[in-house]
Amino acid sequence: MQADLIIVGAGMVGSTLALALERCGLKIVVVDAGPLEVRPYDGQAAFEPRVSALSAASQRILQRVGAWPGIAARRASPYIDMQVWDGSGTGQIHFSAEAVHAEVLGHIVENRVVQDALLETLQARGAVELIAAARLERLHRSDEGWLLSLTDGQELRTPLLVAADGAHSAVRRLAGCETREWDYLHQAIVTSVRCAEPHQRTAWQRFTDDGPLAFLPLERDGDRHWCSIVWSVTEDQARRLMALDDQAFRAALGRAFEQRLGEVLEVDPRLCIPLRQRHAKRYVQPGLALIGDAAHTIHPLAGQGVNLGLLDAAVLAEVLEAALARGERLADLRVLSRFERRRMPHNLAMMAAMEGFERLFQADPLLLRWLRNVGLKTVQSLPEAKALFVRQALGLSGDLPELARA
Ligand SMILES: Cc1cc2nc3c(=O)[nH]c(=O)nc-3n(C[C@H](O)[C@H](O)[C@H](O)COP(=O)(O)OP(=O)(O)OC[C@H]3O[C@@H](n4cnc5c(N)ncnc54)[C@H](O)[C@@H]3O)c2cc1C
Repeated sequence: MQADLIIVGAGMVGSTLALALERCGLKIVVVDAGPLEVRPYDGQAAFEPRVSALSAASQRILQRVGAWPGIAARRASPYIDMQVWDGSGTGQIHFSAEAVHAEVLGHIVENRVVQDALLETLQARGAVELIAAARLERLHRSDEGWLLSLTDGQELRTPLLVAADGAHSAVRRLAGCETREWDYLHQAIVTSVRCAEPHQRTAWQRFTDDGPLAFLPLERDGDRHWCSIVWSVTEDQARRLMALDDQAFRAALGRAFEQRLGEVLEVDPRLCIPLRQRHAKRYVQPGLALIGDAAHTIHPLAGQGVNLGLLDAAVLAEVLEAALARGERLADLRVLSRFERRRMPHNLAMMAAMEGFERLFQADPLLLRWLRNVGLKTVQSLPEAKALFVRQALGLSGDLPELARA
């Protein structure tokens, strides 16, 4: 089969790109290793352990490609406040949507909900061909473009290939794209918990000596006692915490969170995810672009991974549409480099900020402890600096693509 554009990976980022480009007249094929089935929605079901804090910019993009109504009709938990504090000092910051005249700071949404809403929209519109349950196995480049061999035996040809196949991207590996990567020697324990006190639509983050612990507010039928937790700990600690029974884990979690929401009363099954930061040295080659986690994986500390990925998808769609209108060859490096020039500095800046933050909060020396305490207190006392942080978290600063603008 021949296509104008093949996207490998129908995750949140790849599906968004496909929807953003579906009306531009190109023959687009999306390939995914998974079944690509929309799960029947059950509002009473337990929360999925993987969630994302979607920024206002991400909400706009998902709205513009038609997936937000499907997300809102399922489960999306808005948050209006953010409390960040240093567990071994007195520094703390409070951010609120009100301070920047916004309705919300963002929404906590289960990844599966975003995925289902995107897939449902793609299937309903029917403009993009979806190939499910087929994994990219081999990739061959010729003068005419790419030849993709899938595990189901199909062969696909295209002049333009987009890698949206996640952190362990097969496209990136098979195309020989180099990355810089480093291990945090930390793991993230993720699950959902029910607390004694309501979460007040607040995203809570405590920096412990071992790493950050986040309690992100979830809502089910108006019940505001559930939170999604992301607990970043050393590998030894992760092993120890994962081995605890539920009762002991709830007690340890409550202590680490200073019981800010009272006792932890219930806990869902836990997942443990190794944390690794990874960044492709280039996002583009002739006929190839990397987006989302295939291009960069970032510490979940600020909950920015998918937000950056959705901006990648929106910018790439904008660049390709503009090139089409000008009659340019989409696979040209000159065209694709416009996408890289717009996205790489933004992604690198966010990664560097997270890296610095992570190191600052991991540091034990007295001077750094003092610095982070003073830093948090200083930012807390400067409304302008706080507003800047909030606009950054909303994703509404910098060079925004059309899809993310109001
Ligand atoms: C603990 C944790 C918490 C996080 N919290 C947040 C948060 O609050 N906010 C936020 O913005 N981000 C968060 N992130 C990051 C976010 O989850 C990722 O950035 C996001 O899932 C990346 O989406 P993606 O579509 O690029 O890749 P993926 O979601 O990994 O999708 C890749 C797709 O490609 C398919 N695929 C893979 N290989 C192949 C192949 N060979 N052939 C065909 N198909 C293939 C897969 O089946 C999958 O559907 C968090 C991450 C972690 C680890």
